[in-house]
This record gives sequence, C-alpha cells and structure tokens, in this order.
Amino acid sequence: MSQTTIRLLPFLNSPGAGLGTLLLVALLLSLPVQANGPAHEPARHTVQPAVKPAAAPSPTHASAPAASTPLSLEQDAQRITETLQAAMNRAATRQQKREHGVSVAAHAPAVRATVRGKDHGRTDAATARQAAVQGHAEPHWSYLEPGTDPAAWARLKPEFQTCASGKRQSPVHIEESGTLQGPAEPLAFDYRPSGGSVVNNGHTIQVDLEGQNTLTVRGSTYRLLQFHFHHPAEEKVNHKGFAMVAHLVHQNAEGQLAVVAVLIDPGAANGLVHKVWTHMPLDVNDRVRLPAGLLDLGALLPQDQRYYQFMGSLTTPPCTEGVLWMVLKQPMSVSREQLKLFAQLFPMNARPVQALNGRVVRDAL
Ligand SMILES: [Zn+2]
Repeated sequence: MSQTTIRLLPFLNSPGAGLGTLLLVALLLSLPVQANGPAHEPARHTVQPAVKPAAAPSPTHASAPAASTPLSLEQDAQRITETLQAAMNRAATRQQKREHGVSVAAHAPAVRATVRGKDHGRTDAATARQAAVQGHAEPHWSYLEPGTDPAAWARLKPEFQTCASGKRQSPVHIEESGTLQGPAEPLAFDYRPSGGSVVNNGHTIQVDLEGQNTLTVRGSTYRLLQFHFHHPAEEKVNHKGFAMVAHLVHQNAEGQLAVVAVLIDPGAANGLVHKVWTHMPLDVNDRVRLPAGLLDLGALLPQDQRYYQFMGSLTTPPCTEGVLWMVLKQPMSVSREQLKLFAQLFPMNARPVQALNGRVVRDAL
C-alpha cells in the first residue's frame, strides 16, 4: 500500500487534485493495511518523508481492526486501490491531452495546419484534443535539461529526426560578409488592431491572434497566426547576440510558413509588450483572452524594414523545414523590467544556431 500512497503524492499537487477528497479518504482507509504490510514498509517511509505525516497516526489505530477483520480490510484496500488506479488513469489521460495540446498548438504550426485542414474556425484546443484522442502524445523536450535539450530533440521521437538530420535548420548566424546583397521587394505588412489570447505553453509566451493580419512577399499572402518570444534571441547577426527576439509566424493558403524575426535590445519600454505582459498567463497551459482590437500589431515592427531572407525551419521540435525566414535588421526595444519579467519565466528558451550548409542568405537592401 505504501507504493500506492507514494504514487498518489504527485497527484495531490497536480491538476488532478480534484480527486483530493477521494485520495485523502483512501489514504486513511489504507493505513491499517500498511501497518500489517511487509517489513520493508518503514524503510520506504524514511526514504519518502512526505508520506510520514499521513502514516504517523496509524500504528495504534491500525493494529486492532486490522487484526480482527484482515480479509475485509484487504478487500477494502483492494477496492480502494482499483478505484484510485482508475481515477489516476483518468487524470493521467487528461494530463497527456493537455501536454499534447501544448506541442500541437504552439510548436508545430505546420502540423496544426495539416490537422486543421480547411476548418480554420476550430480552436487549437479542439485540435489538440482530437490529436490526443488519436493517441499521439508528444514527449517532453526542453532547452537545458540533459536528455531532453536541443542536442537530444531528434532522439525523443521519430518525427523529431529532422532536428538532427535536417540541412536547412534554424536559427542561423547571419554574417553580412557571406550574404547575397542586392535590391529586394519591401515586405508588405497589412496588420490591424487585433485580439486573441496569450498562452504560456511551457516553452514560451505566445499570442494566438484572431483577425486578418497579412504579410505579402514573393507573390504570396501569408496570414499572421501567432507571435512568441525567445530569450535570448535565437539569431545572431555579425557575431552579435540580442536580448530577445519576437517570432511572427505566418501561413499562406498552401500551408507554407513565413516567420518574421524582430530582434530586441534593452532600451525603451515597448507598448505592445506591455499589453501582452499585462495579460500574462499564470501557469503552464493557462490562457488569457485579450480584448478585441487590443493589439496594434504594427507596433511590433521597426520603422526600417530591411531584412535578411533565407530558407530554414521551425526552431522547436519537430524542426520542420521549408519555412521562409525574414530577419529584420533594425532591432526593437523592451525595457529592462519587461525583459526581466520574461526572463523570470523563461531564463533560456533559445535553440543554438544551426549550420548554414551552403544556404543562400539574402541581404535585402
Ligand atoms: Zn520562435
């Protein structure tokens, strides 16, 4: 039984803690059996001190009834164990669905687009739920934890293999001396005041947008789906790093992605960032709705919109390639306080720069 009680502990602090009452009752009911359990039980309690307070009152209380009706207690314990196991399975399933929702909604816009097909009215959450029901739970990945950090991404899931085998990966280090310099079309942004929602997906703060904000470039019009932040910036330009970067993720009717990177230095406070931070989610998977028309997305863009352009990938698993990247040369700024707030939530959420492998980086003058 102590095995059961130990396994219960994580759930007391988890979203499944709606089971709290049931668990508490079950813990108390299970104590008599613990007292009669095998000799190794006390050792486990010392290893797992968190169990001790619950177990402490048990010895005197437990021995008498356990001795008089052991069979009935064992049956009770068995029934409780089964009930709890079923409850825990349900909680675990719900948790899996949530975790999958994060990865589908936030880190694989291409995958999301495939799942969504033409049904653009559906929410990410609905898509995530459907994907979860289909049983494709995403593994945990991180930026710093050994075993799940960027060097390990490709090993976490077959679909992540591109993270290691891909030859057109992002981010990259742009060195002007190696760029293809020349005239280029201006980026045609058509951004309007928009609403949406802010989510902490466990890897970044992301704003999922509503409305028709578009970017037209290379003869194709892309709709702005979301923007999110990295700290520090993932890109480097002429050996210079930046405090942050905003990635504006667009998609055209064919499902192709175009990401605009806005580099960010410390400096003056940013009004749009202020609005997003004001609606900052409180926890992973927490989502805060924004008032309609709150964000003037044009405020995300610098005045000088000259850019570097190259083909790359998503910078998060599954590292899908075929993404058109535009890195704006002129950085924007956020205040030290704004920077600090994000850094407190995400001390480091930047993938290291990837090899260019002979790719052309165009320097649009
Ligand atoms: Zn990004």
